[in-house]
Amino acid sequence: MVLPFIRSDLVKFIAYNPFQSGRIAQTTNLIQIDKLDTNESSEDFPPQLQEKLLCTYQESIKNNRYPDSSHEKLKSFIANYVNESAELDRQTFSSQSISISNGSDELIRSILIASCVNGEGSILVAEPTFSMYEILAKTLGIPIVTIPRNEDNFAIDLQAATSAIYNIKNPPIRTVFIVHPNSPTGNTLNNSEVDWLINLPENILVVIDEAYFEFSQTTLVSKLVQYPNWVVLRTFSKAFRLAAHRIGYCVANPKTISILEKVRLPYNIPSFSLAAALIAMENHKLLLGSVLQTLTERDKLIQELRLNIALKVWDSRANFIFIKTQALNLDVKTINLKLRESGTLVREIYQGLRITVGTPAENKRTLQRIKAILS
Ligand SMILES: *Cc1c(COP(=O)(O)O)cnc(C)c1O
Repeated sequence: MVLPFIRSDLVKFIAYNPFQSGRIAQTTNLIQIDKLDTNESSEDFPPQLQEKLLCTYQESIKNNRYPDSSHEKLKSFIANYVNESAELDRQTFSSQSISISNGSDELIRSILIASCVNGEGSILVAEPTFSMYEILAKTLGIPIVTIPRNEDNFAIDLQAATSAIYNIKNPPIRTVFIVHPNSPTGNTLNNSEVDWLINLPENILVVIDEAYFEFSQTTLVSKLVQYPNWVVLRTFSKAFRLAAHRIGYCVANPKTISILEKVRLPYNIPSFSLAAALIAMENHKLLLGSVLQTLTERDKLIQELRLNIALKVWDSRANFIFIKTQALNLDVKTINLKLRESGTLVREIYQGLRITVGTPAENKRTLQRIKAILS
């Protein structure tokens, strides 16, 4: 049915559907379902922190009142964490350098609104990469320019990137989205890519999405001091184990922040989520204590999978790995389908599979199930 009051371009889009785990869980209640398709932390928020959160809820959250829309306390906690984790001076970033959003997705949309709508700009993405930039840009009528990556190491084709920056007009590229380390491929930016970003003209906004920073332990946040056209995006959905609470943030020049604050919805973070994020910041050392195990498990998974010559397995600096099949008689779709049937949910994307590193037991099952499919 055509809805005559809807923008004609929107009608054609297919709604984003991140996973279908509900369906498989219902049909297969006898096997262990391992949800390894969205890169969340395999560990829940620890019981003692859940208890703290409940206490906060009972003692200081008023259900009838709007949440704190300034986010001031959380912003200053985040600023301290950003400074500390990048070994920067305590004064480098303050709450004025931070904006908080309902998941990083909200900030991606705010950035697009602030930089590109009304035909003012296109965005540049290097595929394969995180799909939300493209999805959100489309809904705002913003053109998307994609450039390829080198298949060996997924480094960005910088020649194509330069050509896009200088040759695309009407509208020109206004914002470049880069994930560091990239999803689904797991690689961090190399030196020539960073140099390329540094040399971009000042009228181009550089967004570095560091959703996996706590796993990669590498950040470009210190560049913000020198380059006011840069923004670093982060999230509480991955290493901080709070995907259910929808908290993202960005670090940027205070002038950029004040614009993003104009664009965001006033009460974008529910009080309960704000309280959870505060507890996560106060206890970040405890929460990040599990990162080391994830990294060890990831490297074990990579090593074991590489023993099978039917698979190509890339290195990863994040909490997931990316594999492709190099056997002629076996395609990725079939492996994914069989993995699903056996209970392991992974993400099929760009002719490969992105597999989240889970608990040791989950990873063991991942290996067993893949081996069984390949044998
Ligand atoms: C998971 C992820 C995010 C986090 O999104 P939220 O909306 O904060 O849950 C952001 N960027 C990338 C590249 C991701 O993989």
